Amino acid sequence: MTSIFTKIINREIPSEIVYETNDIIVIKDINPKAKIHLLIIPKKEIETIDHLEEDDRDLIANMFFVAKKVSSDLWITWWYKLHFNVWKAGWQEVMHLHLHLLSNM
Ligand code: 5GP
Repeated sequence: MTSIFTKIINREIPSEIVYETNDIIVIKDINPKAKIHLLIIPKKEIETIDHLEEDDRDLIANMFFVAKKVSSDLWITWWYKLHFNVWKAGWQEVMHLHLHLLSNM
């Protein structure tokens, strides 16, 4: 089944896109839990951290470099947090891996 994030990546449903590379998209969370709440999403549909494969190493590293870039672009380099929710019991609602970036600056 296609995830809601894949539909956003494919422009089938709208969203506020902040940044995009060949393998990653960054969008504003539709229900922000902080003044700035972004989702850093690999275009490859990986369900959870638990589903990572060896071939995903570069992709996951790229997600952190994207976090560094967008935090710098937004001038929040020193004031944000990153987190993953993992599986439904770990508060993950959308089963397409994503890194939350939150800041109240
Ligand atoms: P999770 O709980 O899976 O770690 O986080 C999923 C996040 O995706 C939630 O913070 C939720 O608000 C956000 N979200 C769910 N559906 C959409 C959507 O259609 N568009 C956007 N921009 N964010 C969404």
